Amino acid sequence: MTEEKFITDSETVLKFIQYYCDHQHHNEEKKEETIRLVYDGRDLKRSVEYNLCTECKQTLFYSYIKLQTCPYEEKPKCRKCPKPCYGKYEWKKLAKIMKYSGMRLGLLKIRTMFKRNKKESA
Ligand SMILES: [Zn+2]
Repeated sequence: MTEEKFITDSETVLKFIQYYCDHQHHNEEKKEETIRLVYDGRDLKRSVEYNLCTECKQTLFYSYIKLQTCPYEEKPKCRKCPKPCYGKYEWKKLAKIMKYSGMRLGLLKIRTMFKRNKKESA
């Protein structure tokens, strides 16, 4: 996977999980934290912030590790992947989150958000 794709995918998955957690887990105890993005063993000097409950944090870390270890140069859509790496349980959980947040956030909005982020960091 290219570095840029890795950053975009990491941020996308986080946005989706964050949105889901904000709306579905209001009453859980949450903690504001950041993950530092590491790609190919290299610190990208870039971090993402999140404020998630314990369960969603585990989902995020799981997805993040899977992204880091994705063997494909150009990551296929997980649904179409010839070698799916997610466990059944985690996959179901993430699929539910993606469906929930995806419908509400809309892809267009996410793309605009990323364009803005890129300009800021340039
Ligand atoms: Zn949550």
